[in-house]
Amino acid sequence: MKKRIAILGSTGSIGTQALEVIGKQSEYFICEILVAGNNADLLIKQAIEFKPGTVVIADESKYEYVKNALQKYDIKVFAGQESVNQIVESTEIDIVLTAMVGFSGLIPTINAIKAKKNIALANKETLVVAGEIIQKLAFENKINIYPVDSEHSAIFQCLAGEFNNETEKIYLTASGGPFRGKDYNFLKNVTKEQALKHPNWDMGAKITIDSATLMNKGLEAIEAKWLFGLSPKQIDVIVHPQSIIHSIVQFTDGSMKAQMGLPDMKLPIQHALSYPDRLKSDFARFNFLDYPQLTFEKADTENFKCLNIAYKAMEEGGNVACAMNAANEIAVSKFLNDKIKFLEISEIIETSIQKIKYIKNPTIKDLLETDKETRIITSEISEKIKIKS
Ligand code: NDP
Repeated sequence: MKKRIAILGSTGSIGTQALEVIGKQSEYFICEILVAGNNADLLIKQAIEFKPGTVVIADESKYEYVKNALQKYDIKVFAGQESVNQIVESTEIDIVLTAMVGFSGLIPTINAIKAKKNIALANKETLVVAGEIIQKLAFENKINIYPVDSEHSAIFQCLAGEFNNETEKIYLTASGGPFRGKDYNFLKNVTKEQALKHPNWDMGAKITIDSATLMNKGLEAIEAKWLFGLSPKQIDVIVHPQSIIHSIVQFTDGSMKAQMGLPDMKLPIQHALSYPDRLKSDFARFNFLDYPQLTFEKADTENFKCLNIAYKAMEEGGNVACAMNAANEIAVSKFLNDKIKFLEISEIIETSIQKIKYIKNPTIKDLLETDKETRIITSEISEKIKIKS
């Protein structure tokens, strides 16, 4: 039986790579549902190539365009955010790959879990915002969440066969991003073009900026807390510029297991979709002689403040990480639109979090409110803030 897959965010970096994997492994996988935000042309192209049963475009204004382009195919077309939220409940699918960006992934992921679909989770923001609720729902509905993020896939692979063995700590590796080793004077004037040039990974714009600020590693630490049931003290970050070791687990006897390979998201995507099996692939193989040195260094939390902001949010719990996530999404989008400077991102996030009322045990409704309120507050703060020049 082929696994029937829904891809939320099929037109993005993870989504397009997932389709490459599905195309090559068509013996094992079939794409049943494709969901895009507003890239109608790419969605149409994907639909014609992969012939899913259904496509959904979040941007309702593109409905007629997509519908007309696909009229001669046996493909259902829906549009709008409500359709995105509901399509994951379809009986035609076994697993949902959540590759949408940001908070928009939350409600579809919750609905998919309630409909008892396994999740291949790329959309880390979902666990950052509502990790406790998501894990409880996954447990109640007896579904599995398979990590797609390369670091979490690495941890997951290192934990295989260690079910009864306690984890002492994990090390999430970080490339350090495009500005590794740079100081305040350099960072205060960097442009979005510089920030978008990641040294090792080709990813969507939002996560690329998150990598440049180190917020991505902070989001990943929170994601790891919920995926693997760890405390903040058990999660460490180590900069490893070559991105060959994808992460490490240290057990209570001191032994460490690392997962390694060339940086290529297709591998963790395929692993999440095929688990527990490993499928043969033609992904490029790592050659030790091409990498005579694998190096490690401490993360610079002085100049890259977002990592500590995220750890603080993780320790405080409640709705703080939700507020941090919303503030980050707004600040990153302002930076991408040349409205604020790179170093203002962390300042804006820190100030925004302080203005949000703390809720110890937030419900989904509380989280939706926190997200909405923070976005308004962050937009206001962004208008006023200025870093020292
Ligand atoms: P992209 O920006 O490349 O893609 C985002 C996708 O989400 C696009 O298909 C976009 O559609 C779609 N989308 C956005 N908003 C909506 C919406 N409201 N409804 C439906 N679809 C929507 O992001 P990435 O692929 O880089 O990242 C996706 C997620 O995976 C993020 O959470 C990221 O942190 C995570 N991740 C990404 C990695 C990577 O290598 N890229 C690595 C590890 C994790 P459209 O383009 O049509 O508007």
